[in-house]
Amino acid sequence: MQFAVIGNPIEHSLSPEIHLAFAMQVGLELTYDRILAPPDDFQTMARNFFSGSGTGLNVTAPFKHDAYEFVDEKDQASIAASAVNTIHAVGDVFLGYNTDGIGLVADLSRLRWPLKQAKILVIGAGGAAQGIVLPLLEHGAEITLANRTRSRAEALKKQFPKIDVLDLEELKQGWDIVINATAAGWQQEQLPVPSATFEDARCYDLGYQRDGRTPFIQQVEAYADETSDGLGMLVEQAAEAFQIWHDIKPQTSPVLNGLRNPKRQFIAGAVCPRCNQQDTIYVERDLLGNVTLRACSACNYVEDVDGNVSVDLL
Ligand code: NDP
Repeated sequence: MQFAVIGNPIEHSLSPEIHLAFAMQVGLELTYDRILAPPDDFQTMARNFFSGSGTGLNVTAPFKHDAYEFVDEKDQASIAASAVNTIHAVGDVFLGYNTDGIGLVADLSRLRWPLKQAKILVIGAGGAAQGIVLPLLEHGAEITLANRTRSRAEALKKQFPKIDVLDLEELKQGWDIVINATAAGWQQEQLPVPSATFEDARCYDLGYQRDGRTPFIQQVEAYADETSDGLGMLVEQAAEAFQIWHDIKPQTSPVLNGLRNPKRQFIAGAVCPRCNQQDTIYVERDLLGNVTLRACSACNYVEDVDGNVSVDLL
C-alpha cells in the first residue's frame, strides 16, 4: 500500500514519521513518501501518484483547494472549509476529506480546554481558519475572527453568520481561548496584536515545533493562562486520515510523546569536537529509529544529519 503527503515545501513534513509510526503500532505494512509538487501542477502530480499504486494522499499548503477541485466526492467538513487534506482512492473514485477541524477539536479535548460556550478568538482567515470554524461552532463555542486583511474575515462571516469580526488592533482582554491560525510564525514574525488580548486566556497555535516553542507561544506565554502549539492537532488529524484509509483508529498519545521526546543514545568514547569532552556525545532518533541529530550534553554543539553544525548555538 502506497501513501504520501504532497505540498510545497514538503521536506520538513512530519506526516511520514507519524503515519509510519501508526502503521508499526497496528502492524500494517505500507510506504509513505513526501511529494514536492510545482506550485501550478498539483493535478498532474496527484494523477501520477494514483495511476501508480497510490491509495491515499495527504495534502498540505498550498494545495488544499486544488485537492478540493480534484476529488469526485467531498465530506461535509471539506465543503465547509473549501479545502481537502485527505484523498482516498476507492476504485475509480477519489473521495475528499478534511480532518484538520476534527484534529483540532480532539487535541483541545486532550488538553481539557472546554469548548461549550467558550469565547474563542480565532486570529487569521486563511484555509486553516476556514476549516476550524464549523467544528468549533458545532461544539458550542462563540467565535470572533480577526484578520490582518479584514475583507477575508468578512467573507468567512458571510459563510458562518454566527461569528463576529474585529480588527487586530482593536483586540482586548476577555477570551477563554485564543487560536493563532495565521502563517506569521513561518516568517518568525510576531502578531501585531495588543498583549492584553492574551491575558488569562488559553492560547493555542496551529503552528507547531517538536519543542513546542513556536514564535506565537513565545509571544504570549508571559500573559496566557495556558499554551499549546499545534503538534497534537497534526497527530490527531493524521489519525483521522489513517482511520479513513485503514479503518483502524491508532493511538495518538504515544506518537505525540515520541515526537516531543526523541530517544537519546550516548555514544561511548566519542569526543565532542567543540568542548573536547569524552562520553558527552549523543544521537537523537525519530519514531522510526532514524538518527535526526548528533549533539553534546556538556556544551551547545548540535549537528544535523547532513553534518551541518548549528553555529547560532555556539
Ligand atoms: P493561509 O496562507 O491560507 O492563510 C494565512 C493567514 O495568516 C491569513 O489569515 C494571513 O492574513 C495571515 N498572516 C500571514 N502572515 C501574517 C502576519 N505577518 N501577520 C498577521 N497575519 C498574517 O495559511 P493556512 O490557513 O493554510 O495556515 C495557517 C497556519 O496554520 C500555518 O502556520 C499552518 O502551518 C497551520 N496549520 C496547522 C495544522 C496542524 O495540523 N497543526 C493544519 C493546518 C494548518 P492575510 O489574510 O491578511 O494575508
